[in-house]
Amino acid sequence: MKRFLINISLILMITIVLVGCGKKQAPMDLYDSIQQRGKLVVGIENNIQPFSFKGPDGKPQGFEIDIAKQIAKAILTDENAVEYVIVEPATRISMLNSGKADMLIATMTITKSRANVVDFSEPYYYAGQTILVKRNSKIKTFTDLNNKRVGVTFGTTAIEGIKTVAPGAQIQGFKTYQEAYNALKADNIDAFASDDTILLGYSINDANVKILQQRYTQEPYGIAFRKGTESERAIDIVNSTINIMKSNGTMTKLKSRWFKPSEIK
Ligand code: GLU
Repeated sequence: MKRFLINISLILMITIVLVGCGKKQAPMDLYDSIQQRGKLVVGIENNIQPFSFKGPDGKPQGFEIDIAKQIAKAILTDENAVEYVIVEPATRISMLNSGKADMLIATMTITKSRANVVDFSEPYYYAGQTILVKRNSKIKTFTDLNNKRVGVTFGTTAIEGIKTVAPGAQIQGFKTYQEAYNALKADNIDAFASDDTILLGYSINDANVKILQQRYTQEPYGIAFRKGTESERAIDIVNSTINIMKSNGTMTKLKSRWFKPSEIK
């Protein structure tokens, strides 16, 4: 009898689990949920000139903000139907995957390992890694970085990049770009390795630092989405928006709005 009761309880438990699994909802199609909400939620970076930074009115502006607006126009016929969420490089993928943003437009390089965890749009910009140093620095080439203290931001491709170009560098990680820049200013590091796009803003605003002209990687920037079929329709629309922007001159117009001719890639 005891055995019979145990068997019945086991069957009941298994049934409950199976029924529960059957009811598990598939994630809602991203395009549909954006439509229903009437708003796009985009993860962006903070204080990256000219990609994404606070304008005089306190609102985000920059090249990537204009791309977000073009996408909102394509999906919702309203370029202002965008809510911005600030992300950091080290946490941006987990913020995306936990649903805090529909997509990331955040100077994010398309890499093979990231493509295992997120889906990317086609590239909308090509950056490359280089180095920021103090203006009077003796560092002239990347090989000079061996045995030097080089700052990188956690969660960025700069970590792998610097290991390749200067294996003897002493890498120090920082939570934000700003912290790495502050460390350079305070002489706690000798160089700050990052995309030229990120470093450019610092060198424009601060005459006491400079970037080395050469780049040692190519960084195609893509818009990141949660991986899976839920994002497919949204990615299709984003890709066609990027392609239309490239072919009808909008991308060139945006680049000349935000970059000097010598900086356009
Ligand atoms: N593009 C880089 C990445 O996706 C971020 C910028 C940087 O490292 O400077 O990791």
